[in-house]
Amino acid sequence: MLDPVCDMIVDLAEQREQGLTIERPEREYAFCGAGCLEKFAKDPKRYIPKVERWLATGESAPPRM
Ligand SMILES: [Zn+2]
Repeated sequence: MLDPVCDMIVDLAEQREQGLTIERPEREYAFCGAGCLEKFAKDPKRYIPKVERWLATGESAPPRM
């Protein structure tokens, strides 16, 4: 999964074990650390489109902005 705050690719299951995921109605988001999770939690709308774009392009590399 893409960490939409810093563009790192993280493992959803691994981060879930560490409490570094946020579940939203549309999907679950994962983060590399608590700092990124907090940034996302404060302003999710800013980051969600980036995740959508990343998923749409094949889940392989960070998006090119
Ligand atoms: Zn991060």
